[in-house]
Amino acid sequence: MAAVVTGPDAKPAASHRCRFELKKYKTAFTCQVCRVESYDAERYRCNHCGEDRHMGCIRLADEIKLGPGPKNIFSTGPVFMLFDTPQKGRNSKNEKWAKNCLVCGMPIRHYSYHAQTTGNKDLNMHPRCAELTTFNTNSRVPLELQTGERHSCVWCGKKRPEGASPAGPTDFYCWSYRLTGGRNRIHVHCYTEMVIEALKSIAQLDDDDNIHIVLKRRRSSDRNELESILSEVLKIGLDVAGIGFTDIFLDLA
Ligand SMILES: [Zn+2]
Ligand SMILES: [Zn+2]
Ligand SMILES: [Zn+2]
Ligand SMILES: [Zn+2]
Repeated sequence: MAAVVTGPDAKPAASHRCRFELKKYKTAFTCQVCRVESYDAERYRCNHCGEDRHMGCIRLADEIKLGPGPKNIFSTGPVFMLFDTPQKGRNSKNEKWAKNCLVCGMPIRHYSYHAQTTGNKDLNMHPRCAELTTFNTNSRVPLELQTGERHSCVWCGKKRPEGASPAGPTDFYCWSYRLTGGRNRIHVHCYTEMVIEALKSIAQLDDDDNIHIVLKRRRSSDRNELESILSEVLKIGLDVAGIGFTDIFLDLA
């Protein structure tokens, strides 16, 4: 029989395991497995300890095969193995950035999918970010993924988001989503940050179910152009976040 545990600090007693149930929320959360902050409406939650997990992080495969990835960087079909922490081989040539996720560029604080390439490069990824690369039809991937850093990110205005390693190679570290206009891109990390900020800034729907969002501008580019580009891509994220709406009106303050 299941034990009834009550109170805000209630944890399951030692003999009772967490019980995660698939639920829907309209707020951001941090996954306890990969420690990546996200906004997906659907997530697993244990009501005893109040912990959340991505749908994909409720049960991680011991190994995954990725490919082909942007610019076919995984054309050889490398096998990524699951480890408790990011891995660094003895002969690794990327000591300085091995602890950072190849895809989003951020440090990996817990589980990592790791592969070592023939070039003695250690590739590590958050489980969440590895998931982004596995399917073409993943609804949580808002736009086409790309590598390369010729243009700055429209959100942070930089080549790399804050927290990413400056040492990673430009041709395949720290991915972004391709935006309209060819030159425009937004970091994978920055896209999540933007949607979470938008979620927090949604005041109220008007009578026609339109959402009004005010976001702080990070860089001084053409405001009108950026507002129309970003409101289009925000729609995809807010949809994943479970917010129903007719249209979005974005103001870059
Ligand atoms: Zn629990
Ligand atoms: Zn996760
Ligand atoms: Zn990542
Ligand atoms: Zn950015």
